[in-house]
Amino acid sequence: MLLIHCPYCEKDLPETEFHGEGEAHIERPTNMADISDEAFEKFFFIRENQKGVLFERWRHLHGCGRFFNAVRHSVSDKFIKTYKARQEKPKLTKKEIDAVLPPAKSTPANEPIYADAVKGKK
Ligand SMILES: [Zn+2]
Repeated sequence: MLLIHCPYCEKDLPETEFHGEGEAHIERPTNMADISDEAFEKFFFIRENQKGVLFERWRHLHGCGRFFNAVRHSVSDKFIKTYKARQEKPKLTKKEIDAVLPPAKSTPANEPIYADAVKGKK
């Protein structure tokens, strides 16, 4: 079971207590009525959603109820750290990132299975 650290409760708790709320550090324009349609679209819909390290907003929905931020690797689904809302993005060390990297690409033993799945073969 995936455990997530709530920075307010100071505990590692089951993921079922939490809810992901999308990308963190999205700044709401202060002049919303005056911004262009393109700027509104960027604010409202466009997210980095990149493969790798992501900064996300989470909520301890079935606990303290508070929002916080997390740094997670989108491929390995491992959390690097969590931190309180309104705190700046933490600077990460190479060691912290390396610790959550997914396992090395498939081994020769299972490579053909993956290749067949991609090609649509059974
Ligand atoms: Zn909490």
